[in-house]
Amino acid sequence: MYYANLQDGFSIIPRWGIYIPARNKTEKMPIVKAAILVEQNRPLVVDQIDLPTELEYGQVLVKICYSGICGSQLGEIDGVKGPDKFLPHLLGHEGAGVIERCGKGVSTVKPGDHVVLHWKPGKGVQSGTPLYRWKDKNINAGWVTTFNNYGVVSENRVTKIPPEIDLKTATLYGCALTTAFGIINNDADLKAGESIAIFGSGGVGIAVALAASLSSAYPIIAIDINDFKLEQALKFGATHVINSSKENVTEKIKEILSQGADVVVENTGIKSVREQAYELTSPEGRTIFVGVPKHGEKMSLDSFPLHFSKSITGSHGGDARPDYDIPRLIRLQQKGLLPLDEMISHLYPLERINEAIEMVRNGKAVRCVIDMND
Ligand SMILES: [Zn+2]
Repeated sequence: MYYANLQDGFSIIPRWGIYIPARNKTEKMPIVKAAILVEQNRPLVVDQIDLPTELEYGQVLVKICYSGICGSQLGEIDGVKGPDKFLPHLLGHEGAGVIERCGKGVSTVKPGDHVVLHWKPGKGVQSGTPLYRWKDKNINAGWVTTFNNYGVVSENRVTKIPPEIDLKTATLYGCALTTAFGIINNDADLKAGESIAIFGSGGVGIAVALAASLSSAYPIIAIDINDFKLEQALKFGATHVINSSKENVTEKIKEILSQGADVVVENTGIKSVREQAYELTSPEGRTIFVGVPKHGEKMSLDSFPLHFSKSITGSHGGDARPDYDIPRLIRLQQKGLLPLDEMISHLYPLERINEAIEMVRNGKAVRCVIDMND
C-alpha cells in the first residue's frame, strides 16, 4: 500500500527546554481514493483525495472494504431535495471495514476492530465532520461516507461486529437491512399473520419482504413495474407479486384482501403511488412512507379514516438503532435465516462506480456493492 508523508512530529523535552524532532512520531495517513459528487446530475468523479491531517475528538479512521449503493445516493446525485449547498462532497452511508486509528474520546472501538458503517447514530461520540482536500479544493463529508476506501468517520456511525462475519455481506447492515427490519418492527409494528403490501421492490423493498416473512406476515404482496425485481421479491419472501405496468393494482389487491392490507409500505416516493398505498391500507391499517417525495411535492388524501384507526407514518430509516439492531440481525444471519450473499447481485470496483449506479438506477440489481479492495 502506498502512503503519503504528511508531517514530522516534534516533541518538547522540558528539562533541556528545546524542541527536538521526535523519533517514530511521523504520522502516515493513507492515500484515499474516492468517488466525489462535484455537480448534480453528473457522473461521480473518481480521484485521489487527501485526508484531514489528524483525527478530531470522537473520530475514527476506517479502512473501508465495501460500500453499498442506496436510493438516497441516487437522490443526492439527481438533486431530488433541491440544490445542494455542500458540493463538492463525498457520498455513501452503508459500508463495512476495519478501524485503523481512533481519535481522543473514542471508547466503543479500537484499531483492528471490524465494523459496519451506518448513517443512523449508534453508540459513542458524535464528532465534527471531516474536511478532505482535492486539487486545492475542500471536499465536504458528513459523519459517515463510504464511497471512499479510507474515511474519517464519527464514532457513533460505526458498530463493531464479530471478526468472523463476512465484511461484504455485513455492508447491508449499514442501511438496507436495519432500515427494513426497523420498518417492520418499529414503524409498522407488524404482528404475525398480518398482511402487507410493498410498493417498490428495490434493495429496501426486497429487504422489507424478507423482514416481513421472518415476522410471519401473510400474504406479502410485492408491487413493481419491473419483472426482474418481482422475481427477486418472490425469492426473498413475497408470496404474491403484481406488475403495476401490466395489471390493475387496486383490483388485484382487493381480490386478495378485500379490505386492503394491514400494513402498506411505499418505497417509490411517487405521488400517485403514495396516494394509492394509503387507499389500499385497511381501515385499521398502517401506511408507511419510506420513499422520499420530490422536493415540495404535495399529495392528496381522504383524512377521514385517520380519525378512527388508520394511520400514516413517514419512516426515518425505520427508527433503526444500529448498536441494538446489528447484533440481533447478526444472530439471524448466524442461524442461517438471512440469505445475504444472494442479496448482493453485483460487485464493482470503485473506478466503475458510475456503472454500478446506472445498474441500480435501471433496476437491474438487487443490491450492488462496491469492492474497495479491487
Ligand atoms: Zn440507505
